[in-house]
Amino acid sequence: MSAIQSVGVVGAGQMGNGIAQVLAVHGIKVHMLDVSTEACARGLETIRKSLAKFVEKKKITPEQQQAALANLSTGTDYDALAGVQLAIEAATENVEVKHAIFAKLDKVCPPDAILATNTSSISITTLAGRIKARARRFIGMHFMNPVPLMELVEVIRGLDTSDETYAATMELAKRVGKTPVDCNDFPGFVSNRILMPMINEAVYCLMEGVATKESIDSIMKLGMNHPMGPLTLADLIGLDTCLAIMDVLHRDLGDGKYRPCPLLRKYVAAGHLGRKTGQGFYKY
Ligand code: NAD
Repeated sequence: MSAIQSVGVVGAGQMGNGIAQVLAVHGIKVHMLDVSTEACARGLETIRKSLAKFVEKKKITPEQQQAALANLSTGTDYDALAGVQLAIEAATENVEVKHAIFAKLDKVCPPDAILATNTSSISITTLAGRIKARARRFIGMHFMNPVPLMELVEVIRGLDTSDETYAATMELAKRVGKTPVDCNDFPGFVSNRILMPMINEAVYCLMEGVATKESIDSIMKLGMNHPMGPLTLADLIGLDTCLAIMDVLHRDLGDGKYRPCPLLRKYVAAGHLGRKTGQGFYKY
C-alpha cells in the first residue's frame, strides 16, 4: 500500500481538530467532517488559533502555517470522503454513534481505505464486527489530548486487523511526529484502564469530603509530580467522556471496582462537562 496522503477525520471536537491539525502540518490533505457547519467552523477556528500560537513560539514558520491551512477542508457531507486512503473517527464516545459513522464510512470510502477509531475505551473488534468486510482494514488509533502537544499514539489491533493495516498506521503515526505504541484490544486499552480509575477515585475523594478539589489536585501534582491534578485533567478531557469510559470499563470488565462515581454522573447530568462547557469541577 502506498503511503497515506489523504485522510478524512470525522468529528471536529477537541480530538478531531487536533488530529486534523497535526496531519495537515505534516503535509497530508485532510477533510474534517462533523454534524453541523457550526461544529466544523469551531473546529477550524481552534486549529487557526493553535497554529498561530505555534508560529508565535517559532515552532513552525508562517509558510508552514499557510501550507497546513491549505491542506484542510471541512464539511458535513460524507461524499467528500470518497477518495481518502484513511478515515479516522473522533466523534462522541458512544458506541451507537460510532457504529452509525462507520456504516457510512464503509459505504463511501474506497474498498482499500483504512478505517480507524480514536475511541478511548470501546472495543475495536466490536466496532469492526459490524462492517465485517473491512475488519482487516480496521484499527484503533488513539491520540492523546492535546493532540498537537502529546507524543503518544496508542495503536490497537482488533481481532482481524491485518499486518498491512497495522504497518500503515504505525508508519503514519511516526511520519506525523508521534510515537506509536501498540497494545491489545481490552476495555480502555492501557491508557484509560489506568488513568480513568485514578480520576474516578479523585472524584470519590471529593464526594466523600476527603479534601477540597484544590487540595486533591495539589496533592497529586506536587506529591506525584503529575503536570496537572486529576480533577483539572478530567475537566480537560471532558466529564462526559470520562463517564463514558468508566461505563465501558464497568460494563465490559464486569468488576465493581470500576463503578463510576455518582458525583461524576451528577455533573454530567447537569451539563457541567468541563472546559468545553465553561464549567466542570472548576469554572473557566
Ligand atoms: P468532543 O465532545 O470535543 O467532540 C466530539 C465531536 O463529535 C463534536 O464536535 C460532535 O459534534 C461530533 N459528533 C457527534 N456525533 C457525530 C456524528 N454522528 N458524526 C460526526 N460528528 C459527530 O469530544 P472529544 O474529546 O474530541 O472526543 C472524541 C473522541 O476522542 C471520543 O471517542 C473520545 O473518547 C476520544 N478521546 C478523547 C480524549 C480527550 O481527552 N477528550 C482523548 C483521547 C481520545
